[in-house]
Amino acid sequence: MKASKIIPILLSVLIVACNKPNSSTKMHSSEVSNEIYSGPIIDMHVHAFGENSGFSAMLGVEMSQSMTGKAYKAPATMEEVKEETFARFDDHHIVKAMVAGGEDWYDSSPERVIIGNSHHFSIKELKEKHAEGKLEVLGEVAPNYNGILPTDTSLTKYFDLAVELDIPIAYHMFPGGPPGGAYGPYPNIRAHQGKPLQLEEILIARPTMRIYIMHAGWPYLEDMKALMYAHPQVYVDLGVISWVLTRKEFHHFLKGLVDAGFGKRIMFGSDQMIWPETITDGIEAVNSATFLTLKQKEDIFYNNAATFLRLSEEEIKSHKEEMD
Ligand SMILES: [Zn+2]
Repeated sequence: MKASKIIPILLSVLIVACNKPNSSTKMHSSEVSNEIYSGPIIDMHVHAFGENSGFSAMLGVEMSQSMTGKAYKAPATMEEVKEETFARFDDHHIVKAMVAGGEDWYDSSPERVIIGNSHHFSIKELKEKHAEGKLEVLGEVAPNYNGILPTDTSLTKYFDLAVELDIPIAYHMFPGGPPGGAYGPYPNIRAHQGKPLQLEEILIARPTMRIYIMHAGWPYLEDMKALMYAHPQVYVDLGVISWVLTRKEFHHFLKGLVDAGFGKRIMFGSDQMIWPETITDGIEAVNSATFLTLKQKEDIFYNNAATFLRLSEEEIKSHKEEMD
């Protein structure tokens, strides 16, 4: 989910209805029979917002913005958001994190932060950032917040840039903001604009493009299965659907992709914006999936992203050995 203009009032009236997830990664054996993954994690979807972002108005405020009814309270300042996010990274052994806007956080943990920057910069600016080591992922690219389809010609140069620089592009299709976003902060957003199969010709024209679909293209499960079958280079992150949806719906969607055979191209992402607790909830949402084996969880939490990001054998080994 992007962020610039989310209106607290809209969020505060949003939905209610399900179970509060346990805030610990450990679960009681009576709750589930499956094994809990506790190894290194790569979070492919984190945000660092500046003090002047649209999220600032939500700092220090408790609000519910999900289909679960759970309320999250943001820390009082963006500095605290950063500190608490890194504390959660430590707690959960998050060894790498793609942080959109991560330039601001890089110095706090250079070995961990993968810097993302989006299409809000010009091609010239992005090339300069890349040359300075400040562009490792092109994302989060989420033009649909402004009603712009991926096929819009204004985006062509960004897909081409990802190919030219040989860096991943993180593309957001749906959901767009909180439920009912078109009636509040995002008047131009439309649900049908999030359909993943729109990407087909873009992919065909750029077979070497390293792309992942943020939030896994929810709720278009059939489209995503078709897209991932037809285009084996496409990866997904779980993103916000791991904590904004009911646990049942999240598991239904995840199971659909895994059962279809795409378990090697699903990556964990928390979409942590200003609520660090969502990292914990997102991890627990995957760990509580009784239909996943421990190996499948390891793939989702670490191995698939390590492959997608082309981490070296030495780095992978060091991440895994840290845990021994
Ligand atoms: Zn996001």
